Amino acid sequence: MAYITISRDNFYYNLDQIRKKVGSIDKIAIVLKDNAYGHGLEIIAQLASQYGIQHAVVKNLDEAYCIERLFDTILILNGTPIEHPKFSFAINHLQTLQHIDHQAQIELKIDTGMHRNGINMTQIDEAIETIQTKKLNLKGVMTHYRSGDELSSELFWQQKNFKKIINKIKHHNLTNFRIHSQNSATTLRLNNFNEDLVRIGISAYGYNELGYAFQSITLKPIIKLYASKVASRRLHSNNRIGYGGEGSVADFSVVSTYDIGYSDGWLRATKNMPLDEGLQILGRISMDFLSINSDEEHICILHDAQKVAHYCDTISHEITTRLNPKIERVVI
Ligand SMILES: *Cc1c(COP(=O)(O)O)cnc(C)c1O
Repeated sequence: MAYITISRDNFYYNLDQIRKKVGSIDKIAIVLKDNAYGHGLEIIAQLASQYGIQHAVVKNLDEAYCIERLFDTILILNGTPIEHPKFSFAINHLQTLQHIDHQAQIELKIDTGMHRNGINMTQIDEAIETIQTKKLNLKGVMTHYRSGDELSSELFWQQKNFKKIINKIKHHNLTNFRIHSQNSATTLRLNNFNEDLVRIGISAYGYNELGYAFQSITLKPIIKLYASKVASRRLHSNNRIGYGGEGSVADFSVVSTYDIGYSDGWLRATKNMPLDEGLQILGRISMDFLSINSDEEHICILHDAQKVAHYCDTISHEITTRLNPKIERVVI
């Protein structure tokens, strides 16, 4: 059976690099959304908690309940606010604010330029007024950058916008809230961190998506995906392999079928992708199988999602988040 290994050492090495950048472990919020970027929500949450991280970020309430016992605070990026001692809710829209009539912990998301989610900068006065008249429980103010990993000044333009809004909120005598804006790219890129929290996703999993133009920190991927052999055969150069017959080998090569396919979240775009040590995926990916020029019992087909991502013209996030949660995960 196919399986996934998660390297504790590499995970902690990556967290060490982030901790050095931000100065303290208390300032790291580990982003565990979408099954911890496909790595496995519970496993990664447990490792992060054992490392000493107290703050987590998830996609929805289901994920939050799953890891509730392990953290002091859990920020839910997309959920209807409820009262809960550990949970806080990103407010993606002014209307959400207007509908709250209880003491759920809320974190105002400010749209400082990405134009995806958050309170419009022109609506901030209305938002503050709503919070004050309804005596809502403002726990945090946050934003998200659209170009942290790009060689441009856009990040600094958004930062300026964010600071303006923070000052405005403070002027209204709202003070006891935490401030956070940085994801992995901005945290790796910037120095002199002075907010309360960073929201760290992809870099904890071992991928630095910053371009070469930036001084970059080396990180270590933590996930490996192994496929196991199902059947072998010896083929000639005129034999064609798989759907559409798009795979082929040199004469008298051993070709085996392995138990990973696109139903496991493995991209079809890896058709004919080279692997290490002269191995290669042969032809198209089937729903449950793929072929490789080998007869090894187990083959590691993923040890660096960034490499696979380059081959498929996407980002490492997409390679790992798609991995089927049902594939067995082992911590090593
Ligand atoms: C996913 C996400 C992050 C983490 O981003 P990475 O680039 O993976 O570190 C941070 N903040 C928000 C709001 C997100 O949605």
